[in-house]
Amino acid sequence: METKQFKAESKRLLDLMINSIYTHKEIFLRELISNASDAIDKMYYKALTDDSLSFDKDKYYIKVVSDKENRLLKISDTGIGMTKEELEDSLGTIAKSGSLAFKKETELKDGYDIIGQFGVGFYSAFMVAETVTVISKALGSNEAYKWESQGADGYTIEPCEKDSVGTEIILKIKENTEDEKYDEYLEEYTLRNIIKKYSDFIRYPIKMDLTKS
Ligand code: ADP
Ligand code: MG
Repeated sequence: METKQFKAESKRLLDLMINSIYTHKEIFLRELISNASDAIDKMYYKALTDDSLSFDKDKYYIKVVSDKENRLLKISDTGIGMTKEELEDSLGTIAKSGSLAFKKETELKDGYDIIGQFGVGFYSAFMVAETVTVISKALGSNEAYKWESQGADGYTIEPCEKDSVGTEIILKIKENTEDEKYDEYLEEYTLRNIIKKYSDFIRYPIKMDLTKS
């Protein structure tokens, strides 16, 4: 396992974002679902240009699972996944948006999207999570990697097991404080409402599995 440091500017941005830019904490879910959808899009475009791949729409979905007992919220996708290098590149450099140009056209319709515009979407997870774990296996790769971070202090990355291509984001939801309630992000009712509010337009099925509660 290796421990690496965030770049300095990333650190500042992350602090700024977690503590001040955004008051609508619930938008973390929109950001993670939008990344999952982007990852499935990439799979789709790959299949269009690569004859050896087929895109069977039924196999592509996003899943949201809440495990209240352990305070875990898991958002997984069957998208294109990330290699070790991509995990380091994409999640180790804040505000390096791969989807920025695309977003400019599609998501600039309201003032809500400061985070999306600046490409710090993924990091919004730290508004509600004390630890963020990303397990990913990239298309065409035999290895899977686990990226984990508690915020501004950096991240660890190590090989791990994952059967299928795609990405799992696991959030350890913060404990409630006097000023902030985080428990609701483990509630089916709230999660459904947030998804309905911000992610209704997503082209792929968003499944919920709340058997663990
Ligand atoms: P943006 O979506 O604007 O590029 P984000 O901070 O939301 O910025 O995500 C950063 C990058 O991390 C993405 O561009 C993508 O390369 C990678 N990424 C994040 N989530 C996923 C995912 N679920 N599957 C594959 N790649 C992802
Ligand atoms: Mg994004």
